[in-house]
Amino acid sequence: MTERIDGSVLVVNAGSSSLKYQVLEPTTEEVIADGLAEQIGESTSRIKHWYRGHDVVVEGVLPDHEAAIAKVLELFRSDGVDIADSGLAAVGHRVAHGGRSFFAPTLIDAEVRSEIERLGPLAPLHNPANLVGVNAVTALLPDVPAVAVFDTAFFHDLPAAASTYALDAEVAAQYAIRRYGFHGTSHEYVSRKTAETLDREYADLNQIVLHLGNGASMSAVAGGKPIDTTMGMTPLEGLVMGTRTGDIDAGIVFQLSRVAGMSIDDIDTLFNKKSGLKGLCGENDFRSVLERADGGDEAAQLAYDVYLHRLRRYIGAYMVELGRVDTIVFTAGVGENAAPVRADSLAGLENYGIEIDAERNAIRSKEPRVISTDASTITVLVVPTNEELAIARQAMEVAYPA
Ligand code: AMP
Repeated sequence: MTERIDGSVLVVNAGSSSLKYQVLEPTTEEVIADGLAEQIGESTSRIKHWYRGHDVVVEGVLPDHEAAIAKVLELFRSDGVDIADSGLAAVGHRVAHGGRSFFAPTLIDAEVRSEIERLGPLAPLHNPANLVGVNAVTALLPDVPAVAVFDTAFFHDLPAAASTYALDAEVAAQYAIRRYGFHGTSHEYVSRKTAETLDREYADLNQIVLHLGNGASMSAVAGGKPIDTTMGMTPLEGLVMGTRTGDIDAGIVFQLSRVAGMSIDDIDTLFNKKSGLKGLCGENDFRSVLERADGGDEAAQLAYDVYLHRLRRYIGAYMVELGRVDTIVFTAGVGENAAPVRADSLAGLENYGIEIDAERNAIRSKEPRVISTDASTITVLVVPTNEELAIARQAMEVAYPA
């Protein structure tokens, strides 16, 4: 007799050599299982699996994603859960790029799979891996409805002025080059949660959301609709990130190609994997950057300053774009935990109605909370993101429409 997990959702986020998963109950928000398979396709692979308070780490060889998922299902079986026969209600897949085709969570069928595959060239680092995850789970759990939740969806209707690159219009149209935006599931979840936290109507609030994790992006959301965001055709544009450049003069690509003789693949790796905080000071873990900067390390201090400079530039831009700002909201690993980043990014803006309360900002908590003073006309908050919960809820809405 299998343990029951009725009504729960398996959320899957497949990367090129990794697979993150969570099983959760979207109504009670209870997390039942959580795990990560890493180094899939390499000589040794590892799965960290957590089920109702029990941890296991398994090492072995996982040649591909299907083998990884088969192993994860085996781990569930040793916990007494036969996933295929335990009441699992749906699978929610995080898919990076929905291109121009997808702007809402979508029930996955053969046609949707081939459309995600067709979008591969727009997000070569993400979509093919996401699709491998979709195919592997579908092969092993063919009877559970599967829903794709796209990271770009929230930004699908960005105003044309914000989504259009000043590029030859025909070339842009031919290759679907425009600004799509990413982290949409998080920006939407956090901006809605902010309205809920303040007991205000979502449609009444003008918000700036800062999703500061290893990847980082910011959005301006006017009355529930995003009007701008920092990521573009790919998740490389915008803020300084753990390993990504963020905004950069495209002329640097020509220079590195013509003068340094680097290949396009080398430049891609340089910009996406070896730049950002890591490129500036050798470290992409923000905690280490802060510690080293505090200890007088010049490279770490410069990395912090460049990071902050870019953040403040966009905060200024979005204040002007929104005209009236009601909330500024910090989320994700750095945004939720790094009090100095929150304080420094909004320092000296009292004339614009922004005043951080040092004591409130220093509180550590997993709950949404206000960190501005009562006198601050713009309310500043920390609102923990929960992309898995958002994906699980959206998967249920699509799989079982009311
Ligand atoms: P995420 O991608 O949302 O998981 O965020 C990862 C980033 O959050 C990493 O750069 C971490 O170093 C950073 N982070 C996590 N905890 C803290 C903390 N207490 N202080 C500063 N940064 C943190």
